[in-house]
Amino acid sequence: IRNLVLVLGDQLNHDSAAFAGFDSKRDRVWMAENDQEATHVWCHKARLVAFFSPMRHFRDELIADGKQVLYHELTGDRRKRRGSSFQSILDKTLGEHEVENVRFVHPGDYRVREQLRSTLEQAGVTFDELPDEHFYCSPERFNEWATNRKSMILEQFYRVMRTEHSVLVDSKGDPEGGQWNYDKDNRGKFGKAGPANLFQPISFKPDETTRAVIAMVEDRFADHPGTLDAFDLPVCRADALAYLDDFIENRLPDFGDFQDAMWGGEKFLYHSRLSNAINLHLLSPREVVDAAVKAYHEDRAPLNSVEGFVRQILGWREYVRGIYWNKMPEYEGLNSLRCDPDQDVPAFFWDGKTDMACVADAMRLLIDTAYAHHIQRLMVLGLYAQLHGTHPAKFHQWHMAMYADAIDWVSLPNALGMSQYGDHGLMATKPYCATGKHIQRMSNHCKSCRYDPAKSTGDDACPFTTLYWDFLDRHQDTFRGNNRMTLQLKNVEKKSDDEMQAIRQRAKQLREFWSS
Ligand code: FAD
Ligand code: SF4
Repeated sequence: IRNLVLVLGDQLNHDSAAFAGFDSKRDRVWMAENDQEATHVWCHKARLVAFFSPMRHFRDELIADGKQVLYHELTGDRRKRRGSSFQSILDKTLGEHEVENVRFVHPGDYRVREQLRSTLEQAGVTFDELPDEHFYCSPERFNEWATNRKSMILEQFYRVMRTEHSVLVDSKGDPEGGQWNYDKDNRGKFGKAGPANLFQPISFKPDETTRAVIAMVEDRFADHPGTLDAFDLPVCRADALAYLDDFIENRLPDFGDFQDAMWGGEKFLYHSRLSNAINLHLLSPREVVDAAVKAYHEDRAPLNSVEGFVRQILGWREYVRGIYWNKMPEYEGLNSLRCDPDQDVPAFFWDGKTDMACVADAMRLLIDTAYAHHIQRLMVLGLYAQLHGTHPAKFHQWHMAMYADAIDWVSLPNALGMSQYGDHGLMATKPYCATGKHIQRMSNHCKSCRYDPAKSTGDDACPFTTLYWDFLDRHQDTFRGNNRMTLQLKNVEKKSDDEMQAIRQRAKQLREFWSS
């Protein structure tokens, strides 16, 4: 074999740099499903299917395109379980074939990259590591931007990206509509009647390939969390393109207004649910952004929605990847609030069994679909984990286990940094902490809940509210120098000693009760 081209599970793009100059006679593609990737965190079953089914579809497309593929497939037969790892499968291939050179695109996971490089070095095989051209911003470009900066605020990075890539800017370099950011228009709430004109995303019935993967996962990973009954994610590029069209046509127009809102019993609201397809590289971020901008120019979606959506992809998504490669490997060990390393997520994060209406609703969605939208992740589950005192690395591990779109480069900065403030404000200038009243303002959950978001003590006190005051109390010293926290800290000081004592007591009970 002249070139063995490694394709990782989140690199499913046919225009990948790895295929440049591919010669079907002399080159081979190599892909591997392995136990280690599926079990190093205790993955949701839908997350496993969301990786393996697209890999098998991609393999079949490569074969149809005339390429020869060495593919390691996991079977449902547990007796054949070999605890296969990425290295062991690759080592075996290198032992069985004469390989002159290995090519691969820069992996999205620091750990995988290290393992891959050391396996090849130990095997004495030459290799080319190619840049991942899927992203707008290379790690080198991000490092250049980040060098000598006091802070790495998203908004500054986002404007540079808009300008460099001419997205929603006019010929003079000014932002479309005169403003860079329409965030203030994107905090709408639903009226009493709830969301209107809501079109559910199109749903893909599992085909034969997906059904085979589902059967394998149900058998081989039977004890993993989550259910597969509702699995309907796009698993190939054609599905992903149809999903994108459906979002642009039916949900993008209202995406901006209701970006931060929640509504009990609903699933995706006006969110795109495109993270999976983009993270697996079934879609490129450029084509997604271009489709949204085109809808704006054709008057099919308003500017606040399109700018808000572009900010998520060209802004946040590129930014968290930049942070990841700029700060790894130290980043994963950060714990700026000095949380107990043994403090795991609360028990109900696995089964959703809680009487907190907002949490139960987010968990129902998560267990059924391996998805929750951004505000549920940040202002319900992430917030609860933070107030509970969860160690940020444990929260990240839980996130990696439960969400179909979780990949290390994107989960780690969002979970450890943005959500848990583990990086001491590198990503967020203040912690995302709030009482239950915030959830009450942004949703209808509190109406059907047995707790009262205004109360911090007593049997019906909202656990978010109790734990919020306790959180500020515990971290007063850490936050004292932060201007953005001044008002919140003043409010803690206004509480009487007796009240604070009662809050601490109830917070302790809640923490003990819910510790997994
Ligand atoms: P939409 O709301 O429709 O947003 C559009 C797209 O923008 C998303 O598909 C995604 O590609 C991108 N995007 C939006 N916000 C972010 C962000 N903060 N970082 C990176 N991309 C973003 N996203 C992941 O893809 N994988 C993760 O593992 C992940 N972990 C997260 C953990 C926490 C604690 C939080 C608060 C957020 C996390 N996010 C993660 C970001 C975001 O919540 C999801 O991308 C989004 O909810 C996916 O749903 P959607 O496709 O409907 O997004
Ligand atoms: Fe959630 Fe508290 Fe509201 Fe209940 S009262 S839904 S726990 S915020």
